[in-house]
Amino acid sequence: QTVKEPKPDWIRIKLTTGDNYQEIKSMMRSKTLHTVCEEARCPNIYECWANRTATFMILGDICTRACRFCAVNTGRPTELDLQEPERVAEAAENMGLNHCVVTSVARDDLSDGGAMIFAETVKAIRKRLPLCSVEVLIPDFMGNWDALKVVMDAKPDILNHNIETVERMSNRVRAKAKYDRSLELLKRAKEMQPNIPTKSSIMLGVGEEYDEILQSMDDLRAVDCNIMTIGQYLQPSPQHLNVVKYYHPDEFAKLKEEGMQRGFSHVESGPLVRSSYHAHEQVKSAAGQ
Ligand code: SF4
Ligand code: SF4
Repeated sequence: QTVKEPKPDWIRIKLTTGDNYQEIKSMMRSKTLHTVCEEARCPNIYECWANRTATFMILGDICTRACRFCAVNTGRPTELDLQEPERVAEAAENMGLNHCVVTSVARDDLSDGGAMIFAETVKAIRKRLPLCSVEVLIPDFMGNWDALKVVMDAKPDILNHNIETVERMSNRVRAKAKYDRSLELLKRAKEMQPNIPTKSSIMLGVGEEYDEILQSMDDLRAVDCNIMTIGQYLQPSPQHLNVVKYYHPDEFAKLKEEGMQRGFSHVESGPLVRSSYHAHEQVKSAAGQ
């Protein structure tokens, strides 16, 4: 199943680069840091960086997994850089971020999956930028719940873990990750720190049915997940999973309504929505502001 037509109008984006953008880009290079904003060629990069939100990718840029939708390189990672938390915090400070998302590749080669570096990064950012909210978007740590606890004990403002797609498509789309394990992670995170909002995301257009999307919402609410983001899958290269359907903005709007009716505190739903898009506003709504 492939979509042959060109991308619909609402997917095309206006590329405007300001001084701020160039400045931040060169700083990233000088600190040898990776951002998802750049590596995933995220369509929202100008808007997000202008709004002082960015997503850092820690623990290197080589992943031990190979999900069929993802543009990150797969291989055997070598990096474990204990100074990285401090460098990320310094960059966040230089960018004047008010919302910082920290994520990583899956490091199945490490016994804690990188949880300690996540925790240290949260603490380092807090120290330099006490007013900046910090969201962690974590891998599943292969179900190592002690590792999850290390991250939760650092008290991020939001714990984010993506289910990525509906249950039926999960094995096809994600490598090694399991739908049930991801739900369990969200459930356990909430049990460990009931006051920290949890968040998850799915991308549409990989072959899911409408009812299955609604079922995913129900599944997330059943583990008391608070925030959901829904975006359009875009194929990063011809070798990646095909786009089966482009959803219309009206369909995204309808899904937002469905989500809000189910009791999420915030649902961000739109063609260009990514897990960290408008993330700063999500912290506010989760906190009831
Ligand atoms: Fe970066 Fe996320 Fe914004 Fe994309 S949506 S530019 S990844 S912060
Ligand atoms: Fe990409 Fe994450 Fe899958 Fe690795 S685990 S291939 S970084 S989506």
